Parts: sequence; structure tokens; C-alpha cells
Amino acid sequence: MSEYLLEIKDLKTHFFTDDGVLPSVDGVSYAIKKGETLGVVGESGSGKSVTSLSILRLIPSPPGKIVGGEILFEGRDITKFSEEEMRQLRGNDISMIFQEPMTSLNPVFTVGDQIVEAILLHQDVEYPEAREMAINMLERVGIPSPRQRIDEYPHQMSGGMKQRVMIAMALACRPKLLIADEPTTALDVTIQAQILELLNELKDEFGMSILFITHDLGVVAETCDQVAVMYAGKIVEYGNVETIFENPAHPYTHGLFHSLP
Ligand code: ADP
Ligand code: MG
Repeated sequence: MSEYLLEIKDLKTHFFTDDGVLPSVDGVSYAIKKGETLGVVGESGSGKSVTSLSILRLIPSPPGKIVGGEILFEGRDITKFSEEEMRQLRGNDISMIFQEPMTSLNPVFTVGDQIVEAILLHQDVEYPEAREMAINMLERVGIPSPRQRIDEYPHQMSGGMKQRVMIAMALACRPKLLIADEPTTALDVTIQAQILELLNELKDEFGMSILFITHDLGVVAETCDQVAVMYAGKIVEYGNVETIFENPAHPYTHGLFHSLP
């Protein structure tokens, strides 16, 4: 058995557009061990999201397509999975939180019902306990008066609150891997810090692994074990956070670190 929970090997994607075939992810390899956090940084358009969406087969297709490489989860190549196996994987093993969460909550159910349902589906508890767990989770992601707000509908909450609910939902599924694609960019700085702290606590509590996509290098330095730097569809720097922050090898990473405030 591989020591890695997730291994991406030489992944290549193309977007087939009117302007021709655009390469977007161009031979990307990275891996995450159980219980570890990998931070992926790089400028806008460098392929961070397309790589992570490829894991769950969520790139818009068409125009996007995986044209090469392997994605191993617990040693199995999930690019070969059937749609049904993929659904299972998304439901049970890998959760994803996005920068723009607004589409992911169901408007006709209260946020409490949605989190409780996720807990009941994934953990061996009865309704009253699941509801208490949901309230506790809402409190931990920074929702004030969670005992009242749990019965609100998504439209009654601000964007930032909904994002926190989405994080609570993703964690209620007790995933083995959490993919967080710039999950806190839309939130204010104190809330960002709170949520990252929470993710790290829960990571240790559940033995979860995290793929953390961000353009904030400070956050990577503080919260990640490994870092991959992407540039124009490729990984230009990859390894231990300490090693790379002390001694970046690639000129792009150099520039990136020197532009830090
Ligand atoms: P990042 O997340 O690093 O900002 P993305 O992974 O979203 O970047 O995008 C990487 C590249 O993939 C983009 O520069 C673009 O060329 C291409 N791409 C992504 N989505 C689409 C799309 N829907 N149509 C065409 N090209 C796309
Ligand atoms: Mg992105």
C-alpha cells in the first residue's frame, strides 16, 4: 500500500475552444500523505483549480478534458472510475469547498437540516445527537448564536455565513481528503484565521488530509506541511514548507517570496 492518500501523476488537461486547444494543466504531479496538508500556490490561471477539480472529475467538460496522467486515491486510479464509483467517492471520501459557495446550499431547507442530514449519512449517531453536533460545528466555524441560527434558511444568511456553513457541511461528511480551493478569500482576515485554525484542529482530530489552494503564502507557511508552486500549468517548486521557504530554487518562487509584504 502506498504511503500516500492521493497521488497525481503527470496530469494533463486540455480545453477545446474556438481559439484551438489550450493546454491548462501540463504534466502536474503531487502527492499528499494521510494527515498532511499540501498547499498549492501560484498566480491566477496557473492551473490550481483545474488540477483539483480533475480529482473529482468536475472540470467543465466540454470544453475541458483530462488527456493524460493518473490520479491515485488510496492506490486506485480514479480517472478509471465509473460515474457511480465517482459519486461514492465524492459523497464519502473527498469533500470540496470552493471560493464561491452560494450555489451549493439548498435554498428550500434550513442550514441545520442540511448539516444534520450530512452527519446522519456519514456518522453513526441518532437525530438529537446529530443536531447537537451540527450546533457545535456551526459554533466552531464561527457562526454566532448557532442554536438560533441553525434553523435559518440560506437566504437569511450573508455570503460569509453561508461559506462557514459549507465548511461545516464538508466536515460533517468526515472526508479522508478535504479539497479547499481558496475557501476563505471572500471572508475577512480574522475569520480566515479562525477557519484555518479549525481546519488544522479537525485534521488532527480526524486524521484528515487537506489540499489547500490559496494565493496567500503566509497561510501556507503557517498551516501546510508541503507546498507546490504552480506556474503556467506546471509545478515549478515542490517540497517541505520549511525547505522551500528558506531556499526557493525556482526564479518564479523567488519573485513570489520577495513580493511578500
Ligand atoms: P487557477 O485556479 O490557478 O487560477 P485555473 O485552474 O482555473 O487557474 O485555470 C487554468 C487555465 O485553464 C486557465 O488559464 C485557462 O487557460 C484554462 N481554463 C480553465 N477553465 C477554462 C474554461 N472553462 N474554458 C477554457 N479554458 C479554461
Ligand atoms: Mg482557481
